[in-house]
Amino acid sequence: MEASTTKFLFLATHCLALLGPFYFNWSAFWLAVALYFVTCASITLSFHRNLAHRSFKLPRWLEYSFAYCGVLSLQGSPIEWPDALEFKNVGDLKKQWYYRFLHYTYPCHSVALGILLYAGGGLPFLVWGMGVRTVFLLQITFSINSICHIWGKQVWNTGDLSRNNWLLGLLALGEGWHNNHHAFEYSARQGLEWWEIDTTWYIIRFLEAIGLATDVKLPTEAHKKRKALCKNRTME
Ligand SMILES: [Zn+2]
Ligand SMILES: [Zn+2]
Repeated sequence: MEASTTKFLFLATHCLALLGPFYFNWSAFWLAVALYFVTCASITLSFHRNLAHRSFKLPRWLEYSFAYCGVLSLQGSPIEWPDALEFKNVGDLKKQWYYRFLHYTYPCHSVALGILLYAGGGLPFLVWGMGVRTVFLLQITFSINSICHIWGKQVWNTGDLSRNNWLLGLLALGEGWHNNHHAFEYSARQGLEWWEIDTTWYIIRFLEAIGLATDVKLPTEAHKKRKALCKNRTME
């Protein structure tokens, strides 16, 4: 996507977000929360765990639907999303017309959603559904790569600064268990203990239970032992 379009959308959503306090109403607020949940879950489930790390498989129609919702986060198309680039799955995505289509049209889908929101609830819906929601999600996404390397606990020997941060675990639907993620990048599950809330994992687990998610990858006991910081943990 052209850099100028991306910059314009970035600026436009931030301006909209600034209007948040002036156009507040409760239906706009709850709409933004619902859209946040859908788009954040799509980034974590689709862009990150499904497309970048290939930690599970989905039928094409479902894979494409989640990827579509991810595009509505205004974080680019799966082809240019940082983790996908890092894991060289990009070539694979580029071969599919659908991902090329999303790549070249990605701002259009958010503009269309903006128009729909405006038609449905005027400026409050637009400001909260497009402005506040996308800017908040962007901040949360950045926080994973900044705050989760500064604050939180290290439970695995990863040889880096990655940490588990419970607050981002909650807000980013499981992505805050970042030390776990660095230790087992291929794992579809990032909150590895029962109390490490990982909403994205619960969705994947549900999809697996009804037969839609397959080849779901999890850390092996041997791998856990190798990554353990202290002996106590391996005894658990
Ligand atoms: Zn990753
Ligand atoms: Zn990291």
